[in-house]
Amino acid sequence: MKTFEGGIHPKEYKELTEDLKIEKCPLPDTVYLPLYQNIGAYARPVVKAGDIVEEGDLVAEADGFISAPIHTPVSGKIKKISRYPHIAGINVDTIVIERDKTVKPRTWERKKIKFQDISKDDFIKIIKDKGIVGLGGAGFPTYVKFLTKEGQKIDKVLINACECESYVNCDYRSMLEDTERFIEGMRLIKYAFNIKEVIIGVENNKPEAIKKIEEKLSSVIGIRVEPLKTKYPQGGEKMLVKALIDKEVPRGGLPLNVGVVVVNVNTVVAIANAVFYDKPILEKILTVSGKGINKQKNLCVKLGTPFSEIIDFCGGLNKDAERLVVGGPMMGIALSDYNIPIIKTTTGLLALTKKETGNTKIEPCLRCGDCVTQCPMGLVPCELAKYIEHGRVDLAEKTGMLDCMECGTCVYCCPSNRPIVQLIKVGKLKKRQADIQKKG
Ligand code: SF4
Ligand code: SF4
Repeated sequence: MKTFEGGIHPKEYKELTEDLKIEKCPLPDTVYLPLYQNIGAYARPVVKAGDIVEEGDLVAEADGFISAPIHTPVSGKIKKISRYPHIAGINVDTIVIERDKTVKPRTWERKKIKFQDISKDDFIKIIKDKGIVGLGGAGFPTYVKFLTKEGQKIDKVLINACECESYVNCDYRSMLEDTERFIEGMRLIKYAFNIKEVIIGVENNKPEAIKKIEEKLSSVIGIRVEPLKTKYPQGGEKMLVKALIDKEVPRGGLPLNVGVVVVNVNTVVAIANAVFYDKPILEKILTVSGKGINKQKNLCVKLGTPFSEIIDFCGGLNKDAERLVVGGPMMGIALSDYNIPIIKTTTGLLALTKKETGNTKIEPCLRCGDCVTQCPMGLVPCELAKYIEHGRVDLAEKTGMLDCMECGTCVYCCPSNRPIVQLIKVGKLKKRQADIQKKG
């Protein structure tokens, strides 16, 4: 079975939610839309306090090439725009909207078009205008991935259906419950860019999804499923490209450098929603799991819903809840304030118990080299962390800090619980701040 070299096998915990259907989380009375929802420049508000908005209206426009617009997930009134805590641990300008409870949620009717009616330029314009970003990770604006330079061609599109983070099942549930739209989205991409082949890379711990999609694809030419070994971080873009087509994405490059584009499952569904239903990203599928929450669930949640309301809907935390993590346990971020809202890139909320988190006491580095052996990017994580700890971000940068995909493998295998990836994140932030200062 295909895979990449190396990798680790954390306990999966998928069984906690894999058989649970996606439920709708109740609509929040107030939504909080931070202007920072994805990688790149913050969006710029186009509304002001007192404005009345309808579900789906644009409330903030993209502010640059790597940026994406934001649309309101509810109808209501703009209350204010002010700074609120953000999942990234900073305060960010946020559009606060009071929902008008007298207005029913909008029905998004399917437009009378076929995927053959959509040209490459239409496709790019629609997904750009509807604010589509990668929904499985950092939230890179999707339209940019499809922009080819003169002489460049997309040979293949790889669908990232690995969902290799433990606990998280949102792509898996979407593949089972929204199969038709997922397939329609892939056919649309294939046709618009005249792509030879679309390959869906799925870890082999999802046999139900593999079976269902293969059945539905039996009469579709040029789209196929490729089961992959279950291993972390199989869903990392570079690992997926290596496993599926045996090509190396160059250092600092994009998959497009080797003729491919990688798109995640729910991003494909969002593309289909944008093109066929005119619908921007207004909600997220997320897995609420961990043994510290009373009712684990897979949910469809409106953007801007505070985590506190999601926790309430899941029956609250139990006495064993030790740590709340947004995302998966490897790449996720600890949640410090329950009133922080979900954004486009949120995939999970985990309430972990002491037993699930294990010993977290930080000890000195033993120089055992395990982090070096396991790093899927071939870096020397212990050295990077040491440089950053000693204020030498310049040396960390020279030795590959920017190539770190923040997968957390080094932290997982470190016997001393060194906060390597956290230090690397700090290093990257310092580098970004220094670059901004340099520009003046
Ligand atoms: S250094 Fe970065 S890429 Fe390497 S294992 Fe650690 S987090 Fe992953
Ligand atoms: S795995 Fe931990 S203890 Fe071992 S070399 Fe890396 S940082 Fe040091």
